[in-house]
Amino acid sequence: MPKLATVDQCTGCMLCVDVCPHDAVVPQYKNGFYYPSINYTKCVECKLCEKKCPVLKKVFIKNEYLDKPFAVWSKVPLRRIGSSSGGFFTELAYYCFEQASVRNMPCCIVGVIIQGKSVEHRIIEKKEDISLLQGTKYLQSEASGIYEQTLQFLRKGYLVLFSGLPCQVDAMQLFLDKKQYSGEILTCDVICNGVPDGRLLELDIGNNFPDLKQIISFRDKLKGWNKCLAFTYERENGSICRLPIEQSFFLKAFKANYALRKCCYKCSYSTIKRNTDFTIGDYWGNTYSVEEQFKGVSLVISHNVRATEILKKNQTLFFYPVLWEECLRGNPRLYSGKRIIQYAIPRFIINRLLNQRRYSILKRLLTDETGAVSEKRYWWIPFKIWTILLKHIESKYREYKLKKILNTYKNEKY
Ligand SMILES: Cc1cc2nc3c(=O)[nH]c(=O)nc-3n(C[C@H](O)[C@H](O)[C@H](O)COP(=O)(O)OP(=O)(O)OC[C@H]3O[C@@H](n4cnc5c(N)ncnc54)[C@H](O)[C@@H]3O)c2cc1C
Ligand code: SF4
Ligand code: SF4
Ligand code: SF4
Repeated sequence: MPKLATVDQCTGCMLCVDVCPHDAVVPQYKNGFYYPSINYTKCVECKLCEKKCPVLKKVFIKNEYLDKPFAVWSKVPLRRIGSSSGGFFTELAYYCFEQASVRNMPCCIVGVIIQGKSVEHRIIEKKEDISLLQGTKYLQSEASGIYEQTLQFLRKGYLVLFSGLPCQVDAMQLFLDKKQYSGEILTCDVICNGVPDGRLLELDIGNNFPDLKQIISFRDKLKGWNKCLAFTYERENGSICRLPIEQSFFLKAFKANYALRKCCYKCSYSTIKRNTDFTIGDYWGNTYSVEEQFKGVSLVISHNVRATEILKKNQTLFFYPVLWEECLRGNPRLYSGKRIIQYAIPRFIINRLLNQRRYSILKRLLTDETGAVSEKRYWWIPFKIWTILLKHIESKYREYKLKKILNTYKNEKY
């Protein structure tokens, strides 16, 4: 019988679903995340799924190329404002369409869209649809099928831009290994903090806004990029509601890292060097002005010569090189995939409460509310003290890891 990655290790990339030639692996939604499930009556025990699983193969970064990191933003205001950071992804998507038309090739972009109350990977073939992929969606997309569909487009000679979480982009590359196609693929992953437990959002929706028809966004720039975390949705009656992070315990828990997928507490993709073409994220270092900071700035790391040239050739992008220290300080997920063991306690407690759907207690633990939830019981106080302590220990741990990585990067030659 095939043995896939364990529940604790599995990233949910769903590569095993696309790899199985007998449709014996199906995605299953369990405890807020997607996991593969094997139908043993269909399975012929070829073990192809086992051989391809990125976790079982052990994540291997073979790329040694390293350019300077760049702070980047789009010169087109509408493209920048609709994006989560500086709009690099949107510019890259437009660039692909333009290049494809010059080279007389068809083009498509693979990315994540919001579909009602969930998110999913989708392929778009029209420039006008790029906006559907724009913006960060803080949920894990169910990616099964996307690898095979992308291969079909490559076989038809398309220029493809594939974007997603690092574990999904790695899965795409492993899927294409040794496959023949006439098209061309560019890959772009994000700096990834981890994916949150979908049950948090379900509980938040059920109790806070049951008339939700469609999620619109998870962050925006209405109050400036620094205060971007807000949950916006359309109600059944067509009106639009915006909840800042203080009112959404889903966003609070995500930001605090208490309810992420288990593998995201020890992620092998949290590295500077990667196998993808581009890595993108938020640039929190010094920018030219407060105004630029307000509008959002992308951090872009190109991982090969082709990617660096694409970045430098793009006429609608403004970019300048930044120091490693400045970008690493604001982005620990570029050098540390491990979260300290102390997270295990809050994660365990939150998980138990989610299983029992204890909304009011969760709300007390995850927000700053001080009103009585369980009258005179103050058992939640140790939890709060523990989490304050946790933040302190983690910042020390990060500082230690940062010093270590900066020592290495001093010796990097550009
Ligand atoms: C779960 C998650 C965690 C992140 N954590 C960090 C972090 O810790 N630090 C940091 O600097 N940046 C993080 N990012 C990336 C950041 O939020 C921006 O997406 C990034 O800066 C790109 O911004 P942009 O303006 O260039 O493009 P945008 O238009 O904002 O980004 C769109 C791109 O993101 C992809 N995308 C959006 N949601 C998802 C999703 N759920 N799964 C896979 N791909 C998705 C789209 O396909 C598209 O490629 C995270 C993103 C996600 C989805
Ligand atoms: S291929 Fe991906 S989804 Fe399947 S077991 Fe491995 S990590 Fe999990
Ligand atoms: S062993 Fe082969 S047939 Fe069975 S689930 Fe894996 S890939 Fe499919
Ligand atoms: S933290 Fe790592 S394992 Fe988790 S979603 Fe991001 S890339 Fe995948």
